[in-house]
Amino acid sequence: MPITNYSHDQLIELDRRHIWHPYSSIENDNPLFAVVSAEGAYIQLQTGERLIDGMSSWWSTLHGYNHPQLNRAVEDQLKKMAHVMFGGFTHEPAVKLAKQLVDISPAKLKRVFFSDSGSVAVEVAMKMAIQFWQSQGQNRQKFLTIEKGYHGDTFAAMSVCDPVTGMHHMYTGVLMEQLFTPQPRCRFYDAWSDEDFNSFESKFLAHQADIAAVILEPIVQGTGGMHFYSPTFLKKVRALTSAFGVPLIADEIATGMGRTGRMFACEHADVEPDIMCLGKTLSAGYITLAATLCSDDIATTICDGKAGVFMHGPTFMANPLACSVASKSIALLFENDWQLQVKHIENWLNSGLAPCKQLKGVADVRVLGSIGVVEMDSPVDLKLLQPEFVKRGIWLRPFGKLIYMIPPYIINKDEIDKLCAGVYEVIDRTYGHA
Ligand SMILES: *Cc1c(COP(=O)(O)O)cnc(C)c1O
Repeated sequence: MPITNYSHDQLIELDRRHIWHPYSSIENDNPLFAVVSAEGAYIQLQTGERLIDGMSSWWSTLHGYNHPQLNRAVEDQLKKMAHVMFGGFTHEPAVKLAKQLVDISPAKLKRVFFSDSGSVAVEVAMKMAIQFWQSQGQNRQKFLTIEKGYHGDTFAAMSVCDPVTGMHHMYTGVLMEQLFTPQPRCRFYDAWSDEDFNSFESKFLAHQADIAAVILEPIVQGTGGMHFYSPTFLKKVRALTSAFGVPLIADEIATGMGRTGRMFACEHADVEPDIMCLGKTLSAGYITLAATLCSDDIATTICDGKAGVFMHGPTFMANPLACSVASKSIALLFENDWQLQVKHIENWLNSGLAPCKQLKGVADVRVLGSIGVVEMDSPVDLKLLQPEFVKRGIWLRPFGKLIYMIPPYIINKDEIDKLCAGVYEVIDRTYGHA
């Protein structure tokens, strides 16, 4: 066991006294587990339990924890420099990563803007769209999106999150008011029905002269409900936005790097966005990094216009440590045959989660790529469920009605079976058979 300065109880006590956790009350008594290390698909708790990781630390640790080659990428770069400003300087880690991103992303995307988190990548994308129109002498400020989306927690990003689950009521009057249409009802494997596009089409047409861009999560709406929608919807969005010259922003922060079975979720619909946001999956869970890619047309229009420059520049832009590890992560995807890894996970999740359909309280079970979802009839009690999962040696973090898993690509069948069996047992124990 690694040596720590604090006992387990001291850690928890001091944490509760001083630290905020995501989306929580400072006074909450949600279960809290101290982690000492993590390796491959396993997380080691200070109390001794070793948990199979079903969450990839919120989509990010694609190749598992403490990966020798990813560690090496950071270590090698650390010996050269941890960071250097990006104003006036460039460096190989940034250039190499940008080239890889341009090579693997839709052909149209040629320009890369690095930033430090997903929310900021979304802010950057939205600023690009606004400046794109300003450069053409147009003041377009509205963004059209679909309900139940999630794009981050900063103000512009929040403004395009679902108005209900995104807590717009807490910031009324502060948030920009955007245009929303219902979430597509046709699901990924459903037959397409043209009706499903009516609301989007009419809203778009009614407001198109004010719309700076359409922004959405392609195919998989993650935090807004783990909804997998029809590629035809996305195709139609692309056709309509293209017809009117309105940029399409694809937020691939959760879905990028193969998570849905394609390198980018847009590929399920064969569409190319004008702007694409990457984050979470980009740097393999090592160091926070995000990127906003755009087409030559967007970039040159912004820069030929009256502003002439794009107005954003984070202090830690293109951090060399983060770029090095992201670059190695992309190389590993190919070395490991990510497509086969994700295909296997999809098959294992399909067979492993299918028995849950028989359980009481389960509304739906669905799988796409390396994403497995058990949707319940009503919101689950995290406080009750999380310790039950930990007792069974698995790490899952349900939210709302959703018990879901997004395991690292290096996970094996036995580990997936344990994750799925754990979910089955805990639901069965809590709700009973139908
Ligand atoms: C997580 C997420 C974000 C925000 O990324 P952060 O790094 O948490 O700021 C934006 N969009 C999508 C689709 C996400 O899943």
